[in-house]
Amino acid sequence: MSDIKVKVPYLDLKAQYQSIKPEIDAAIARVLESCQFVLGPEVAGFEQDFAAYCGAAECIALNSGTSALHLALLAAGVGPGDEVITVPFTFVASVAAVTYTGARPVLVDIDPRSFTMDPAAVEAAITPRTKAILPVHLYGQSADMDPIMEIARRHGLVVIEDAAQAHGAKYKTRPVGSIGDMACFSFYPGKNLGAYGEGGAVTTSNPEYARTIRMLRDWGQDRKYHHLLRGFNYRMEGFQGAILRVKLRHLERWTEARRKVVNLYNDLLADSGVESPTEMPWGRHVYHVYTLRTDERDGLQAFLLAEGIQTGIHYPVPAHLQPAYADLGYGHGAFPHAEAAAEQVLSLPLYPELSSQAVAEVARAVKKAVANRTQTAVSR
Ligand SMILES: *Cc1c(COP(=O)(O)O)cnc(C)c1O
Repeated sequence: MSDIKVKVPYLDLKAQYQSIKPEIDAAIARVLESCQFVLGPEVAGFEQDFAAYCGAAECIALNSGTSALHLALLAAGVGPGDEVITVPFTFVASVAAVTYTGARPVLVDIDPRSFTMDPAAVEAAITPRTKAILPVHLYGQSADMDPIMEIARRHGLVVIEDAAQAHGAKYKTRPVGSIGDMACFSFYPGKNLGAYGEGGAVTTSNPEYARTIRMLRDWGQDRKYHHLLRGFNYRMEGFQGAILRVKLRHLERWTEARRKVVNLYNDLLADSGVESPTEMPWGRHVYHVYTLRTDERDGLQAFLLAEGIQTGIHYPVPAHLQPAYADLGYGHGAFPHAEAAAEQVLSLPLYPELSSQAVAEVARAVKKAVANRTQTAVSR
């Protein structure tokens, strides 16, 4: 494979850095000069800015999105013997974080159009042990939050949004991060708002949850060396706070650039024989990934790679079919929509700096692959 020249990479983090280099370099220099390497004023500033951006009262900056999920669950009081309802079609962290607390992940299938939690499946999964619901805003599109919030309120459950892929997405008029009781974000470098290392955050407007998470991220201290809770070292680094503060100022522009790329893909791939992603009427999709569906996914991916076009599969194996989670007791066929999606999805190159020419080249290659396939099928 290494002899194939990459013509269109799946991601290009360098292009973005080059476009904001002076601002980033100045931010890094500020941290070096201040020597505030862990938390500190840059992180506190980012917390304020990001809370405001999400329409939440508070943001607690952490060292990863996984830590955000872990601490949000703990703040909600989730522990051994409890159950948390989430989806199998997600990055594994959504499910793993539940197990960190000792609770059991209870999975429900997705809606096949939005790839997010099917609210109609939630109610039947509730038991007396259910403590929380963890919908995932997959690919940058909000889950259908109104019915999920309604079910949660009726049953006294906490709602934790997994917004790791959805910075800036909206449900109706509200930004994700302000809808559930808490929301968890990741700033892993490839995410829509990416640090230059690991990072994550919880947003919430509940002061009690915020206070607990602030303590838990820093060894459960309410003041130095007084440990009220059994905590962790989940603090954000000063460099990441300074970098994220700079990058947050560009996020809306980058999101609009992503959406332009997506519109172009949609236009060029209309009637191509592959299924473009569906933007649900309820919100603003921020397209962390552009995922199409085709039942010839593996062939299409191989063809594109031979043409120098990198793609991704998000995700090839749903959580309930992962060996690590076999003990959850779900088998093949448990979640048909998640399983079908895992076999059919393919993510095309997408980042704000991707040129129209590159998008056209990708679309041309996709159409060529489909045409070849149809020809082969006819001649057989
Ligand atoms: C990236 C991601 C996470 C985990 O975030 P990290 O910062 O990598 O720990 C959790 N959930 C989803 C849906 C993600 O995409």
